Amino acid sequence: MKAGRGDRQALTQVAVWLGLAAVYFVLGKLGLRLAVVHPSATAIWPPSGIALAAILLLGYRAWPGIFLGAFVVNAITAGSVATCLGIASGNTLEAVVGAWLVNRFAAGHAVLDTPRNTFKFVGLAGGVSTMIGATAGVAVLSLTGFSAWSDFVPVWITWWLGDATGDIIVAPLVLLWASDWRVGLSGRRALEAVALLLSLAATGVLVFGNRLSAFEQSAPLKFLCIPFLLWAAFRFGRREAATATALLSAIAVWGTIRGGIPVDTVQENVTLLTLQAFLAVISAMSLAVAAAVWERRRAEDKLREHERGLSRYATYLEQFAYAASHDLQEPLRHVSLFTELLATRYQGQAEDSDQWIGFILAGVRRMSELITGLLAFSSLVGTEGVRFSPVDMAEVAEAATKNLESMIAETGARICYDRLPSVTGDRPQLILLMQNLLANAIKYRDQAPPVIHIDARLESGQWVFSVRDNGIGIEAAYHETIFGLFKRLHGGAVPGAGLGLGIAKRIVELHHGRIWVESEPGAGATFYFAIPAVF
Ligand code: ADP
Repeated sequence: MKAGRGDRQALTQVAVWLGLAAVYFVLGKLGLRLAVVHPSATAIWPPSGIALAAILLLGYRAWPGIFLGAFVVNAITAGSVATCLGIASGNTLEAVVGAWLVNRFAAGHAVLDTPRNTFKFVGLAGGVSTMIGATAGVAVLSLTGFSAWSDFVPVWITWWLGDATGDIIVAPLVLLWASDWRVGLSGRRALEAVALLLSLAATGVLVFGNRLSAFEQSAPLKFLCIPFLLWAAFRFGRREAATATALLSAIAVWGTIRGGIPVDTVQENVTLLTLQAFLAVISAMSLAVAAAVWERRRAEDKLREHERGLSRYATYLEQFAYAASHDLQEPLRHVSLFTELLATRYQGQAEDSDQWIGFILAGVRRMSELITGLLAFSSLVGTEGVRFSPVDMAEVAEAATKNLESMIAETGARICYDRLPSVTGDRPQLILLMQNLLANAIKYRDQAPPVIHIDARLESGQWVFSVRDNGIGIEAAYHETIFGLFKRLHGGAVPGAGLGLGIAKRIVELHHGRIWVESEPGAGATFYFAIPAVF
């Protein structure tokens, strides 16, 4: 049973090698049809891209397939067994080193995910590793006398550029389609894709077709292809950009073959090399642009997901706080009711009971205040219910003052304000904000009756409101902490749940503003809140 699985694995491995060798062979044969400077050195060498992608996708163990393909394609072309072995070794080593460099320095088969790694891919795999194949191949040919030493440089450049273009154009095509081969375009997108392919193909034929080649020489039109590659990169993605580049390269090569076969002059090779260099450059450019677009799209998706998560979380929190505080009110009402019953029935019967009952009722009152504060705060956690409209702040001050009527009457407080502006905001929230600040200004009064001034000034596009009192003031050490939830500087002596400023801060935040205090003990306090004048 175990041996059977082992055999099957070995068979699969051999099948992969043979398949890889076959693809390498076919593409190599096509490339060598354009060999000019030497039968074994061509400016078009797509197998290098296949080899690189194979190692990146299948791992280093794919090398025998490459070696076999390279050996056979050379064996039936030119040279001796020794030269073919040398060339095949160079080509295999090139792919292995190229893949190692990409794995080590540029995220392996995810290399095309970012523009940075895409450029590394072009440099390391396309530029550097291909020198191995070119150097090994040309050295072997020169050493064995199949190529003249005097031709070393032109043959080397042709070889190197052929391999580099293969890496830059073909490897991305294979890598990206292997990572996701589903097409899944529907309706308008499918139509757009067809329009893109047709217009790219038409432009390719126009620019690279031999009929126009005379005109092309006088007026180079290759740049006309660039917008179509950008179209693919921006509107579709990396895979489509790689496909568009490969399609354009195929048309360009086809046009060249059609125009000049048999390619038999060094001048033709120079044309091919220029064409290859052009294709390599635009391929690198469109891959980098596509990677940047893809990176941005992914970042946007992530952001949207976070946003959804956050608003879900805020809703849960809001519901939880509301349910908890709402449900707590009920048992508390019972405690309060029965304590009061106890008080009326057994008042004065036991020594300390009146005092203890008093403590219970005070505790219940405090708890009730806390719950009411929590309820108010819970409605401000999310942004769901916030309704922005123009709000007259003078009306806000008036409404807040009205809500505090009895407190004002009890303490003899005076609240003064002149003209206050209109802002864009949520009216009920702004009233609550103002009410909390005014209530504090009254609660934390000094000996003298409270005098409170409300003012507003326009400052760098923001309305800065101030609520100034003549109360006890706040030590600098607490200027930040007082805005936290349940943060109080005064114990039970002054009623409050420690939520008033927390609520005020949250409201200001919901209005895209900020709140702060300036104060000194004994010299009153001025609370400021700034909100944008225009949204
Ligand atoms: P609460 O008033 O219920 O205690 P707040 O969150 O409104 O809670 O205020 C937090 C603390 O900040 C108060 O306990 C008080 O000590 C201090 N504080 C707030 N407003 C003033 C003020 N106008 N003058 C002096 N102290 C203040």
